[in-house]
Amino acid sequence: MLSCPSCQSKSIKLNGHIHNGKQNHLCKDCGRQFVVNPENKVISKQEKALIDKLLLEKISLAGIARTMEVSEVWLQGYISDLYASCPEDLCATLPDQSAMDAYLEDKFDKYIYEILPLKKTLIRLSLLHHGRILRHLMVN
Ligand SMILES: [Zn+2]
Repeated sequence: MLSCPSCQSKSIKLNGHIHNGKQNHLCKDCGRQFVVNPENKVISKQEKALIDKLLLEKISLAGIARTMEVSEVWLQGYISDLYASCPEDLCATLPDQSAMDAYLEDKFDKYIYEILPLKKTLIRLSLLHHGRILRHLMVN
């Protein structure tokens, strides 16, 4: 039984296909659109930390997915979640959370820095890294 990655609602309906033919779903409760990750691969904390760093480099999302051997669908979901977790003042106006998956799907081969709404997410990520580095320096 499917549940919504945002609100865990089980009230899901099929919502057509994304351009590569994968089945798209729509949560009837919160409006989130999502594609089910067929691999169900568990991504470790270390891998996520590395992906965070790669996101700050001039690489395409597709390049990160290939390098880290994660599915594009997973990476899309990860970025959507990062984007959603940004404080309001950092969040750009478009696209909203429910449109984010479809939006990223379109931009997958672009360099990350060409994906405008992602920039704010990336600024936040680099601030987080900065914080980690500073803490590390202070401890040592
Ligand atoms: Zn939902």
